[in-house]
Amino acid sequence: VSFRASSPTGPRRRPHGADSHQMRGSVAHQRRVLDRLPVPGPDDAVDPVHLVRGFADPLDQEIAGIVAALFAYGQVKAICRTVEWILGQLAPSPRQALLERRHLRRGWGAGFRYRFNSRSDLIGLCEGIASMTRDRGGLGKALALHRADHEDTDAGLASWVNDLRLRACRAAPLSYGLRHLLPDPARGGACKRWRLYLRWMIRPADGIDLGVWSHLMSPAELVIPLDAHWERIGPRLGLTSRRTAGAGMAKEITRGLRKIRPDDPLRYDYPICHLGMRGGCPPRLGEADCRICPLRSICPTAGQAVLQVGGP
Ligand code: SF4
Repeated sequence: VSFRASSPTGPRRRPHGADSHQMRGSVAHQRRVLDRLPVPGPDDAVDPVHLVRGFADPLDQEIAGIVAALFAYGQVKAICRTVEWILGQLAPSPRQALLERRHLRRGWGAGFRYRFNSRSDLIGLCEGIASMTRDRGGLGKALALHRADHEDTDAGLASWVNDLRLRACRAAPLSYGLRHLLPDPARGGACKRWRLYLRWMIRPADGIDLGVWSHLMSPAELVIPLDAHWERIGPRLGLTSRRTAGAGMAKEITRGLRKIRPDDPLRYDYPICHLGMRGGCPPRLGEADCRICPLRSICPTAGQAVLQVGGP
């Protein structure tokens, strides 16, 4: 099982008819339909955020959250195993452990390796978090400061990531693995893992998201963590006409959702992705899929194709 997997990058065939499509019905109707989508409860089998909820202190949660989000690439079991192992090295309080600079002790994290990331990358990440926490009082407070210095959220996010990278490099070289772990939002990628982390931290606590930073930033500013489900379902729903997955597609889909929920566009992120995770709106789409789909009355693709093959 992949956790909110990205599809391979590059141009792909646009789902049939998506060019001229827009979501059907009035905004009020769209909102009613989306509000009725089942909001699944926390699903420990598919979401590493459950590991973050194990900490009570918000300052521990923001550190556990960044670890869980940044290592959320690959298979869900491997992600959860890895995040659990790292948090075990920082138990019982990740904030306290990092402020004590436990990660710089001889032998700490020995044997760590997760796909592109080595022990050195992990130590760099820990040092970046520790340094920012010590100097700014926390990751969220630091992000709010960067946000206040820039005219939009993305510029603030890019500046904050750059700050974190520079601090990480005090303890580790800026390897391919560390760059992969701390992707630069200024490069135009969808930055799914950063978007996911911000969603967890900023959206109000609802059983999935944690609302740890809800006093620092508004959910209205969030952008969807674009994954393979959104790349497939977004164009079919008429929320984007873009061919290539990236920041542009993520923002276009979010703009569409913001028209329906200006205060909280990502309210529909988890329910729609979960529809895809449960096999709804599959890549090989048949009429029967649309007939039972809870989105059919607002979806411009519903009833349009006998069999459509498109998207990841
Ligand atoms: S299953 Fe059909 S109706 Fe539902 S979102 Fe996909 S294309 Fe639209």
